[in-house]
Amino acid sequence: MFRAGHSARLPSQIRRTLATHASKPAPPATRRTWTKPEIQNIYDTPLLDLVFRAASTHRQHHDPGKIQLCTLMNIKTGGCTEDCSYCSQSSRYSTPTTASRLVEVEPVIEAARKAKANGSTRFCMGAAWRDLAGRKRGFERILEMVREVRGMGMEVCTTLGMLSPEQAKQLKEAGLTAYNHNLDTSREFYPEVITTRSYDERLDTISAVRDAGISVCSGGILGLGESDEDRVGLIWEVSKIIPCQRSSAYQRDPLENNEPVPYQTLLRTIATARVVLPKTIIRLAAGRQTLDENQQAMCFMAGANAVFTGEQMLTTPCSPWDEDKAMMNRWGLEGMRSFEQSSVARKEGDRLEVASEPVAPPSAASSEVRSSV
Ligand code: SF4
Repeated sequence: MFRAGHSARLPSQIRRTLATHASKPAPPATRRTWTKPEIQNIYDTPLLDLVFRAASTHRQHHDPGKIQLCTLMNIKTGGCTEDCSYCSQSSRYSTPTTASRLVEVEPVIEAARKAKANGSTRFCMGAAWRDLAGRKRGFERILEMVREVRGMGMEVCTTLGMLSPEQAKQLKEAGLTAYNHNLDTSREFYPEVITTRSYDERLDTISAVRDAGISVCSGGILGLGESDEDRVGLIWEVSKIIPCQRSSAYQRDPLENNEPVPYQTLLRTIATARVVLPKTIIRLAAGRQTLDENQQAMCFMAGANAVFTGEQMLTTPCSPWDEDKAMMNRWGLEGMRSFEQSSVARKEGDRLEVASEPVAPPSAASSEVRSSV
């Protein structure tokens, strides 16, 4: 997902995501002063104790019966100059992904209508490129996409690589709800994964997004060859912003021979993130379809409360709407409404008054988006 947030992940192998803790009352509110040893202690808790603690924390800040349904569309595929080693859209690796130009507005609107009709309340658009430099007309087209999708009453998110403060402002004015830009992994392990943009450049884009009043969506990928310490390091970094994605390695990318991250590691990471980030929405992204239903349900118990659903992720398979709806029915889960999250609703301000459909009143219990702030 997304991940420049666009993490295009592919099926054959599996990687994982993150979260946290449980046997005593959870911290009263979001804090940005976690230390790595504190997070490591949470991460090292016996797993079922950790899941219990995370579930308890989750129930203090969220409706545990609600899952946010998001649909992602790739609006510009492949040919990216970056060297993210997990990504099939990088032009530096030989993959079956074929590069394409930025799509027109109408197919995007049609895809958003379909997503909305199937129950998705957030529509995300991803473009495979480093940044928007030299893409003035393309950016204007994307701004039009944002206006159109937001006009349908949906939350709208984009992942377009690095942004300047001015570009972030323009996206906000067009109605953008959230911007995805992932940290991918810990600062220490990051140079093993990407060399064409720095960790601090990623943080600069996240700052520009937050300063523009847009919800930040950020996270990481599990299964890149990282250690437990790197997973803790990622959670520590996003405790100032946010997490969660998992992905599966592509057959031919440089990480194809990595060992899949065990399910218990995924669950442990999700539970840890939930304890450390009690108000954040934790979204399972690429690779979720490799989990069976019971494994997914345990992730929801541990605090994951958003998924991508629909026909496809960026370049990877996605659990389809009908399967997800059936699964949610079996487990007593239902989809969140648009702008149900109070922090997202607050950032919309007066725009909620003119939304094209009724939206939920801000809830005192929940807050940020995906790895968002
Ligand atoms: S290679 Fe390009 S498209 Fe792929 S994750 Fe990196 S920035 Fe995004």
